[in-house]
Parts: sequence; C-alpha cells; structure tokens
Amino acid sequence: MIYKKSVFFIICICIYIFQISTAFAQEELPKIKLKIGKHEEFYRLVFVFNNTEILQSTSVNILKDNKIKVSSSEDFQIEYKDKVLSDNEKLHGIGIKKFDKSFIFEIPSLSDIKVYKLNSPPRLVIDAYVNEMLNGKFSVLIDPGHGGRDKGLINNNVSEKDIVLYLSKEISLKLAQNGIKNILTRVSDEEVSLKKRIEIANNQNPSIFLSIHISQENLFRLYHFPNEKTQITKKLISNLKEKILKNFSEPVVIEEIPIYLINKINSPALLIEIPQKTLLNEKKYLNKIVDVLSQSLFEIGKANEKFTKNK
Ligand SMILES: [Zn+2]
Repeated sequence: MIYKKSVFFIICICIYIFQISTAFAQEELPKIKLKIGKHEEFYRLVFVFNNTEILQSTSVNILKDNKIKVSSSEDFQIEYKDKVLSDNEKLHGIGIKKFDKSFIFEIPSLSDIKVYKLNSPPRLVIDAYVNEMLNGKFSVLIDPGHGGRDKGLINNNVSEKDIVLYLSKEISLKLAQNGIKNILTRVSDEEVSLKKRIEIANNQNPSIFLSIHISQENLFRLYHFPNEKTQITKKLISNLKEKILKNFSEPVVIEEIPIYLINKINSPALLIEIPQKTLLNEKKYLNKIVDVLSQSLFEIGKANEKFTKNK
C-alpha cells in the first residue's frame, strides 16, 4: 500500500514538474507585440518589446522579392491583437513567416524601408514604402513605344512616338476619370530603353501592362506571351478583338510570341500595334482608338475587381 502511494506521489510530482517546465518554456520565449498601420504610401509595422536588450540585438534587412527580414539574437514570438502568430500568417495583405530566430515579412510592391528604434516603451518601427500601384486594386501601366531620338515609324513628318504618346495620354485620362489607377512609362518625348520599361513594369506590378505601337500594315496586331498570370490578358484580348471588329474595318491578328519586353514583364502584358493609317494623324480616327482601348481596359478592370472581391 505504501509502495502504491509513493508511486502515485512520484507520478504527481512528475506531472507537476512537467507542467512547470512547459509553462516556463513558453514564458521563456519573449513575446513582441506587433501593430500594423496602413498609410497612403507605406505600411507602418511597430514592434513593442518588453526589454531594451532584445530590441538592441534586433536587426532589419530588406531582401529581394518584396521581403523584409527581422531577426534577433534570441528566439522570439510575435503577438498580434493578443494572439501569438503561427509560423505562417497573412495580415493586411502582408505575408509573415517564421524562420529560426527571424520573421520574414512579404509586402507586395515593396520599394524601400525606413527603420527606427525608439525607447519607452522599447520599440522597433519599420516604415515599408510600397509603390503607388498595389494590391488588389486594378491598375494599368501604359507604355507609349519609342521616344526621343527613337522616332519609330515616320510618315510625312508624323512619327509613331508622337502618335502613341498622344493616345497613351488620352487613354490614361479616360481611365483616371473612371477611377482606374494608371501611369505611363513616359509622359514626354524622351528616350526610355526597353530595359528601363521592364524595370518600371516589374517595380510597379500593374494588373496589366499595355504597350502601344504602330504597325507597318493597316491592321491591329495583339502580341502576348502566355505565363501563369495571363488569364486577364486573354480576357482583354477577346474583349478588344470584339470591339475592334465592331468599330473598325481593319482586321485583328493575335500573335503568341515571346517578344522582348512583354516576355520579361512579370505582370500580364500586351503589346498592341495599331494600323499604319494612324500616322495620318486624323484625330477622329485616333480618338476612336482611345475609346475602344480605354473602354476595354475599364470593362476588364471592373470584372476583375468584382472577381477579387468575391474571392
Ligand atoms: Zn513601334
């Protein structure tokens, strides 16, 4: 009997020690409170620490692929709204993953960070700047071909570079009037290399990249190159084709070719060549092109926003 009692007693003690040690282990891992604020141009991540030592040992690095790494000499946990984060979370569109003694924050369209360490209470502030066009909201990057010394096609002193710039600006205005975010790769008669255009596109990360050129023939040619994100390009192509056939007498040719520029752009990309007769610079004809292109982009944008909302 005495033997049984002591076994029971030992078991109780073991359970007690186990509970204490696990409680201790959990308590040992410092908790850092996180707050996230979304501002016009940046996300503000505020980490509130219990003591200054861990804050001092914490470092922040910007990695490629829109990632920020926050690491410390000690392992730590992050608490958000009184809940300890798991190893893989998404908050306000920010992906958060734990790796060893660090956390990786993935922020879409991240361009730059500013880091502050502040006292009382000890805290780390990261302002993560994002490019103007982002997350969820449909946006268009319009790319007027050529520019500067690179005139493109020429007819009677009218250059492709000027016609496509005129069209791009008009389309941009129409889209903005309809609440669609957009920017241009050039807004004046300047030379912009293909490399630079690719860089702008991959930094801005628009919903659609649309490059505008003039064809040597009297037809519309739509170039695209399929990748995993091209569902939206296909929708735009079929919408455009239908509108062009309805409004113009020129034919539409669709080409699936990895031409340099659109094949280097991560976003869905389309290059349109408009009929050579646009070089005659007839405003009525040009404005019809503006209407068709902006209407198509608008419809695709609206459909896309509905789709993302329902997801
Ligand atoms: Zn061209």
